[in-house]
Amino acid sequence: MDAIELTRDLVAIQSLNPGGDEHDCALFLGGLLEEAGFEVSYHDFAPRRTSVVAKRGGRGKGRQLCFAGHIDTVPLGSQPWSVDPFGGEIRDGRLYGRGVTDMKSGIAAFVSAAVDLGEALDDGPGLLLIMAAGEETGCEGSRPLGAELAGEVEVGAMVIAEPTYNLPKVGHRGAFWLRMTAAGKTAHGSMPEHGINALYKAARAAGKLEDFDFNVKRHPLLGGNSLSVGNLHSGQNVNSVPDRAVMEVDIRTIPGVDHGSLREGFLGYLGADIEAIEPFVDLDSVWTDPAHPWMQRVFDLVTPILGARPEIGALPFFTDAAVLQPAFGGVPTVILGPGETHMAHQTDEYCLVDNIPVAVEIYRRIIEDWAESNVAVL
Ligand SMILES: [Zn+2]
Repeated sequence: MDAIELTRDLVAIQSLNPGGDEHDCALFLGGLLEEAGFEVSYHDFAPRRTSVVAKRGGRGKGRQLCFAGHIDTVPLGSQPWSVDPFGGEIRDGRLYGRGVTDMKSGIAAFVSAAVDLGEALDDGPGLLLIMAAGEETGCEGSRPLGAELAGEVEVGAMVIAEPTYNLPKVGHRGAFWLRMTAAGKTAHGSMPEHGINALYKAARAAGKLEDFDFNVKRHPLLGGNSLSVGNLHSGQNVNSVPDRAVMEVDIRTIPGVDHGSLREGFLGYLGADIEAIEPFVDLDSVWTDPAHPWMQRVFDLVTPILGARPEIGALPFFTDAAVLQPAFGGVPTVILGPGETHMAHQTDEYCLVDNIPVAVEIYRRIIEDWAESNVAVL
């Protein structure tokens, strides 16, 4: 199966999120996998918010190998594109389009590797493919899916095909997104002394957040925690004192940071200006010991394909592994995909065409190696 053509087919099926509708993309992938002999099921977390799961094999000993990724993409942004974002145009070795890097090329590569192996999978430990909806807005699809699958599959290791330039990454930070509310009292804009301005309170809190010190020991690969105030909404008209302000804060955390205590800490730090702090995305960090035997095997396998042994690395952003790794009992998880990490979510997003068949080759080797050796490494 031609993974480059499959990437172009997937890019042509819009699955922007927010505004999410992954149904057509899920049906397309499911149809193709069903035709290739896989057992396919569809899982909606909301109307037309469809994830697709495919399974094959399992007559052999051992736990299943899982490949996972998401089929939604971020919106186009407000800047104009120089190419059709759904055209799948190839120019100077780059394949352009929304989601090519993050992460339809990764989905196309593992689907191609699985379809190409075909019957060879039947006598192995089994292969599980998860193509989730709703990842970009906080793993909305994979969370219920992980809970549902946890009881019926026995996963031994997982590959997340997010963009890493085909370099294996052993973990990523968690995400803790908070909605902070300030309350006030409205009044006529000409007599502000009769009101309490909620916008001033939120703005003071935002200023304090800029100086917030997490005071945690840095992780050797993931660095520290980070914080960014993403938006602040307040007021309905210029000539009233706003009585409510809502600010959303994006926090990324390294392993060992407890999100509940962090929230408590913010309540104390921001004091009376903020009356409520509600988490709306709460995802743990992901980490696998680079010395784990399977992780070492992954590095061994990619070395001849890439021409050199990659350095051990990790990622700043979250993936579906944040919910799938705990759902599957903390299995060793590598994040490895053909996309260009730095092009994720960008205008004129692209993926290097040549990296797609390389990913297919890497995935094929990982699948074959798992069938040969998984009993030994667990
Ligand atoms: Zn992604």
